[in-house]
Formats: sequence, structure tokens, C-alpha cells
Amino acid sequence: MTVQEDDYRQRYNSLLREFTELEDQQDALERLIKNAITRLLFAVDKAYPELNEPVASLRDQLRNADSADFDINAVGQSLGDLGEQIRELEALSPPPAQPNERQRPAADTRAQIQATLPLLLDRIAITEQLEDRRTRLIQTLEDPNDDTLPSILIDRAAGLVNDMRQQIEREKTDLTRFLAQVTQALADIDEHTQHQIVDAEHQRAAREQLNRSVEDQVGSISEDLSNAPDLDTLKSTLNERIERIRSHLSEFHQSEEDRLAKVEQDNQRLRERVISLEKHTRLLQTRLKSSEEKMLRDNLTGIPNRLAFNERIKIEIARSKREEHPLTLAIWDIDHFKRINDEYGHQAGDKALIIVSKTLMKLIREIDMVARFGGEEFVMLLPETDAEGAKVVAERIRNKLARTVFRYQEQKLSITISCGLAQFKPGESIESVFSRADKALYQAKEQGRNQCVLAQ
Ligand code: GH3
Ligand code: MG
Ligand code: MG
Repeated sequence: MTVQEDDYRQRYNSLLREFTELEDQQDALERLIKNAITRLLFAVDKAYPELNEPVASLRDQLRNADSADFDINAVGQSLGDLGEQIRELEALSPPPAQPNERQRPAADTRAQIQATLPLLLDRIAITEQLEDRRTRLIQTLEDPNDDTLPSILIDRAAGLVNDMRQQIEREKTDLTRFLAQVTQALADIDEHTQHQIVDAEHQRAAREQLNRSVEDQVGSISEDLSNAPDLDTLKSTLNERIERIRSHLSEFHQSEEDRLAKVEQDNQRLRERVISLEKHTRLLQTRLKSSEEKMLRDNLTGIPNRLAFNERIKIEIARSKREEHPLTLAIWDIDHFKRINDEYGHQAGDKALIIVSKTLMKLIREIDMVARFGGEEFVMLLPETDAEGAKVVAERIRNKLARTVFRYQEQKLSITISCGLAQFKPGESIESVFSRADKALYQAKEQGRNQCVLAQ
């Protein structure tokens, strides 16, 4: 029982930890949603000056709410209203029918949405069930012949984000319910143990009682022996005494059997409970694990994403402090990446991103980490490495990429990449080291790209 109990407490604690992690992921998702909506509002604002007011109010809603009382449902509601208003405006002036009557920049809006939405959608950590919808939406967005209204595209994107959020919400509810079950099971185990203690006390009392009465009867027998007037009386008195002892013994056995049967029944119930909990735990853990893994990977390249990086950097900073090892951050940005997209198309750009990811992954050590931070930007963490050491690694990667030629539809393409490196100073904040590395990257770009610069 104690082993099982311990086991359960451990699992309970690990589930609690997972629960907290899920909440962190939800926070990150909410931040992402906020950013996504802010950027969408920017596009809407430009395209529909008439909607200036509701857009401004929604922007305020996003800006003012700190994450504790940020009400995503209220924002979703306002966003839905805004979509409705856009639809009404578009119904007033369908752009292809009367192009001159009203200067509705539908094509402009679409171009803007086309430029921002796929990137945003790419950044949403999404589960497998919703992956299809995302792919379809991105395809629609990238199809030059598609004429879906911008408001509908925005609606679909918002819907996707919302569904993703609901999925996390459901997962949380499941987990909460399960934690309640585990808590109940632990309480049951406690109660059961208490019962057993009480039972054992009863049993001791019953046994003492039996001993006492047997002793009494035996004691009386010796008295009877000396007091009996004749043999017959003695015989019948003895018979009576023996009968009484037998009946006490059988009562005792009966109550003992009842008690054991009850204990066995309790044990059986508890065992069944534990088995069903165990099944549920395994199921939940696999589900959690796979959704967690998905949330931490970039969809296009399969390497860790920004969320994973944000988790890892905290761990590495703590470790470098504890072990007094240096830790260096590198920020990478592909040079003139826009040109690749413009000249060869988005798919060529995607292929380049995959190749860069692979090269970055291949040329680092096991303890290093690389993540796609967004767009064509990558970040790298090099534990136990000072700035000079990291520069050597970075130069190797930069050189390798500059010499790599890849094919896209019979064409040979090549890219270069620039990098800013900054070693953590003792006690330095993440923001500060990022800002130094960013400045170094900027300098690398300024000085002609295809180079790695060490931060001050
Ligand atoms: P610089 O050398 O100054 O970095 O120039 P750049 O063109 O790389 O910089 P800029 O930041 O202006 O452009 C980045 C472009 O990267 C914009 C966008 O078209 C493209 N991009 C970002 N994410 C993706 C993606 O997931 N796939 C593709 N194909 N392109 C992307
Ligand atoms: Mg960039
Ligand atoms: Mg770039």
C-alpha cells in the first residue's frame, strides 16, 4: 500500500508540473494571439479608414489588458464584430464590379494580408488535427488567382487561432478533472490505511477479550474441580464450560472472517481504482507528450521553435551560473532573403529555410541549441563556450552555407547568412544579451553581410 501511495504521490506531482507547463504554453499562445491580432488590425486600419474607431478600441483592449485579466473571449467578440463590419463595407462596394466608383483597396489589403498572415500562421504552435486547416489557409493566401475576400481570410485565421486555444482549454479541463480524480484516490488510500489501523485495534481488543474469557472459564474449571459434590455434576459443569469456550472461539472466528472479507473487499475496490487511474494516466501522458512536442517544434523546418528556445535559455542561464561556465548567444539572419522569395517564389524560400536549419543543426554540438526564432531568423545557444569560441563555430557555419548550392526547380541557388554573437555577462538579463547580439547582427549587415560580428 505504501509503495502504491508513494508512487501515486510522485505521479501526482509530475502531473501538477505538467499542468503548470501547459499553463505557460497557454500564456505564450495568448501573447502570440495578441501579436497576431495587432498586426491584422494594422492591415485592416490601412485598408478601411472608416473602421478607424473600432480598430483603435480593439487595439486599446489589447494594449491595456495585462496578461492576468486579458479576456480573449471579449477580444474574439470584438474581432468578430469587426469582421462583420468589413463584410458590410465590402458588400457596399464589391471591388471587381465597380473598380472606379469607390477606391476600395481590396487588392492592397489582400497583398498585405498575404504578406503577413502566412508568417503569423506559421508561428502558431498547432496540433495535428488543425494542421490541415492551416495548410489550406496558407495555400489559399498564396494562390494569386484566389479571390476570397480579405475579411473571410482574417475570419478563418482568427477561427483557427481560437480553435487552437479551445483545444488547449479542453486539455486543461481534462487534466484538472484527472487531477481531482487522483486527489480523490489519494484520499481513499489514506482513509483505507486509517481503517486498517482501526481494524487492527479492534482485532487486538477482540483477541484480548477472547483470552480473558477463556482464562476465566479455565480458572473456573479448577474451582469446579474442588467444589463439585459428585462426578455427574462435575461432568455437566465442565461440559457447560467447554461449550462456552467453544462458542466464544467460534464467535471470534466468525468476526475475524467477516473482518478479513471486508478488508479483502476494500483492497479489491482500491486495486480496481488504481488500475483504472493508471490507464488514464498513461493515456493522458502520451497525449500531453505529443502535444507538447508539437508545440515546441517549428512546423516548416522541424527544429525547435521560439517557445522551446525561451524555455531552454532559462535552463542554460541557470546552469552556466551554477557551473560557472560561459554561455554565448548567436542570432542568425539570412541575407537578402526577400530576393529569394521575390525572384524564385515562396517555396524556394521555404526550401532555403529548411537547408539553413539542417546546416545549423548539423554543425553544432549536442549540448548546443538552435531554434527558428521567426521568419528567416535563427537563434543559437552555446553553453560552455565563450565569445571567441562561438565565433569559430559561427564562422564554420557561415562558410559552409556560403559554399552550399541548392537546387530549386532546375535552378541553382545560393544564400549567405549573417550573425551577431554575444556572450552572457554575469547577471545580465536575457533582453540585454539579445539586444547586444542584435546590434552585432545589424553591424554585420551594415558591413556588407555574410559575416559574423562579436558584440561589445
Ligand atoms: P537582410 O539581408 O537585410 O536581412 O534582408 P532580408 O531580405 O533578408 O530582410 P527582410 O527582413 O527585409 O526580409 C525578410 C523576408 O523573409 C520577408 C519574408 O518575405 C521572408 N520570410 C520570412 N519568413 C518566411 C517563410 O517562412 N518562408 C518564406 N519563403 N519566406 C519568409
Ligand atoms: Mg530578418
Ligand atoms: Mg534577412
